Amino acid sequence: MHGTPDLRATSLTSLPETTAVGGGGRILLAAPRGYCAGVDRAVDVVEKALELYGAPVYVRKEIVHNKFVVESLSKRGAVFVQETDQVPEGARVVFSAHGVSPEVHEAARVRRLATIDATCPLVTKVHREAVRFAKQDYDIILVGHQGHEEVEGTFGEAPGHIQVVGTPEEVDDVVVRDPDRVVWISQTTLSVDETRLTVDRLRQRFPNLIDPPSDDICYATQNRQGAVKAIAPKVDVMVVVGSANSSNSVRLVDVALESGVPSAHRIDKAEELRGEWFAGAATVGLTSGASVPEILVRDVIEWLQAHGFPTVEVVRTETESTTFALPRDLRADLKAAGMAPARPHAPREVLPDHTR
Ligand code: SF4
Repeated sequence: MHGTPDLRATSLTSLPETTAVGGGGRILLAAPRGYCAGVDRAVDVVEKALELYGAPVYVRKEIVHNKFVVESLSKRGAVFVQETDQVPEGARVVFSAHGVSPEVHEAARVRRLATIDATCPLVTKVHREAVRFAKQDYDIILVGHQGHEEVEGTFGEAPGHIQVVGTPEEVDDVVVRDPDRVVWISQTTLSVDETRLTVDRLRQRFPNLIDPPSDDICYATQNRQGAVKAIAPKVDVMVVVGSANSSNSVRLVDVALESGVPSAHRIDKAEELRGEWFAGAATVGLTSGASVPEILVRDVIEWLQAHGFPTVEVVRTETESTTFALPRDLRADLKAAGMAPARPHAPREVLPDHTR
């Protein structure tokens, strides 16, 4: 449908803070939404690697958890694999934004793979915390979802010291060596409120529980949840654009429902919208997860505008300016090839042409 889309939407115009077109139902568009700095960087890594080294560029796991992004990069020559043993010996492989364990680095070294690590620096920060607390011989409670790639990567930094806890109820099953030497860390994309409940329960069991040095739930996750909470009291239906395996997107649906929105739907793309979801609704809330290109939000706005919601109002709760540089080796190779290290960072939220 989109041909070869610009995944960073650089050519579109920045969204004004309040835009109104026509009458009837309205859309409240959450801001911030969509691409975070870690996703922006990870997608840029694959695009730059394709330009610099040529196809194929192997990528372990989905570079970010978004179907559309993965399909778009596949069309350009990225080859997504589950494990490094599916990459030909000596070839180049990109590690995804979610991070990998030391075991994966070692498997790549054994196969003589050239690696480019697109792990988000905010995930790397949590890995470092895990390593440091393990060295100090703490029992580490990793609050996160079992089986999620980020949790697997962090767990792999110190498997002998870490226990994964997914819900407040699971806290009851935690067994530690010394209740006074317990620390918690977390996945970066959790619900802020549910994590607080889990940590409160941990603290009831272990009153001397040690907190991580700074929030592990990242700025982008917190900001997107904050924006959903801000519009929640005013909307009848919430639409969240994001893939089913995107933790932060799924959390946005949870946050909307917990904040009192009568119904909330996660979709990958506009084609999944159903007219009956909006029967009787006057206001639709719209947001997108941190791995979602703005072009998919634009499609949803167009669909809603054609189905009785012509007015778009942006509700901004934060302005984001975080950006991350490309991995050092890739920057060096780009420089040696006389290529620009990165495109200027794009405005991540854009407005469809007809609502400017
Ligand atoms: S959601 Fe947060 S931790 Fe994950 S890639 Fe984005 S900025 Fe990094």
